[in-house]
Amino acid sequence: MIDCLFCKIVEGEIPSEKVYEDEHFLAFKDINPKAPVHILIIPKEHISRVENLEENQVEMVGRLILLAKDIAHQQRIKNGFRLIFNNGPDAGQAVEHIHLHLLGGRKLTWPPG
Ligand code: 5GP
Ligand code: ZN
Repeated sequence: MIDCLFCKIVEGEIPSEKVYEDEHFLAFKDINPKAPVHILIIPKEHISRVENLEENQVEMVGRLILLAKDIAHQQRIKNGFRLIFNNGPDAGQAVEHIHLHLLGGRKLTWPPG
């Protein structure tokens, strides 16, 4: 079995503050939030990085983004939000299980660091 933090969160071995769950996806609050709303949205399937995505995962990726939009509305984020995939070390990807950051609830500066 893969030793993966987010797989353990999916399995419930590590607790998380869930905001959404279905058969294929889980969304939970980031433990170290960078904005008033900071949620991680993941596929339950273990995929390490965006660069490892394949053609047959196109629909899953589309659903992930639509889900992020729905959760942004559910969280009553006003005036916009940001969606981020960190991919690889230079981007600061710390957990090697693909995750979409949803950030909102404050004015976000650009560019990020
Ligand atoms: P990355 O840097 O890989 O794009 O993002 C990983 C995110 O996971 C970070 O924002 C970090 O705060 C969050 N994180 C790390 N460990 C845990 C945990 O055990 N629980 C939760 N809810 N978030 C975590
Ligand atoms: Zn995993």
